[in-house]
Amino acid sequence: MKAVAKLTPVPGAALIDVKVPTPMPQEVLIRVAATSICGTDLHIYDWNKWAQGRINPPLIIGHELAGYVEEIGSEVDSFSVGDYVSAETHLYCGHCKTCCNGKPHICDNLRIIGVDCNGSFAQYLTVPENVLWKNDPSLPPEIATLQEPFGNAVHTVQTADVVGKRVVIFGDGPIGIMAVSIAKAEGAETVLLVGLSDVRLEIGLAMGADEVINARRESVAEIIKHTEVVLEMSGSPIAIKQGFNLLENGGIFIAFGLPDAPVPIDISEEIVFKEITVKGVVGREIFSTWERGQQLLQQINLAPLVTHQLPLAEYERGIKLQKNYEAVKVILLPH
Ligand SMILES: [Zn+2]
Ligand SMILES: [Zn+2]
Repeated sequence: MKAVAKLTPVPGAALIDVKVPTPMPQEVLIRVAATSICGTDLHIYDWNKWAQGRINPPLIIGHELAGYVEEIGSEVDSFSVGDYVSAETHLYCGHCKTCCNGKPHICDNLRIIGVDCNGSFAQYLTVPENVLWKNDPSLPPEIATLQEPFGNAVHTVQTADVVGKRVVIFGDGPIGIMAVSIAKAEGAETVLLVGLSDVRLEIGLAMGADEVINARRESVAEIIKHTEVVLEMSGSPIAIKQGFNLLENGGIFIAFGLPDAPVPIDISEEIVFKEITVKGVVGREIFSTWERGQQLLQQINLAPLVTHQLPLAEYERGIKLQKNYEAVKVILLPH
């Protein structure tokens, strides 16, 4: 089969020919119909500091996917050949304390598809049965593959409890834009999106933002005086600082974006005296976030985010388009 792999510990990736993997007893083999490029894939491709410390080549990259069960392992009993599926990308052990306390998405022994084991930029991949998700048949593969990042946004918005609240979202990446539509659907009073790209902010407006701010030209502090909820989905140290500044007393700050380095925060002024709530969010709750996501996709149309669909062999072009902000979401089609 064809696959995109990181073969050596240097920037770049290669299109390779490898044997189709065989599922272990508790795994299924998926024929990948669509797989989408995520920021994590760009980091691995670029071989940034995080990737250097985490990735052990050779590795097939990619983790957002939709496809069909091609073959099942001997102990698989809830899925059959032909099922239309996606996969939760956080592989959990099921027996650590965190898993036993109902939080397998932050398992102490967490492994991630396309990061710690072979991923979905391939014609086929194997995945444990316990992370498989049966797709709504009405979702085409190029949308079903987006359920994973959409789940990040669902989990972030649900953690904040936005009903009736004024919400500011920092970050106009795909997940920030998805969070706009979810916050509106979940009953936020107003949703304001702060970003750096006019093209993406335009899509944010189309997805329901009440107002957008391009922080390259406009002063966030002048436009927003106070807000009740900040969803920090950019990882930018400037945005993080602004987010704390404009949060009113008793507000909620959800940290989802990943800064490259530690960010100094005035804990006394910004957290203690304002008695705000700060909460980190990672991944998706397995599977309650997926269930809520599926319901929300009945009313939210993600098609405007799919700006490009390319054959797998054109992965390099897709990565460049997404890196240069020319694309929002690039879908790779392996067959
Ligand atoms: Zn991702
Ligand atoms: Zn665990």
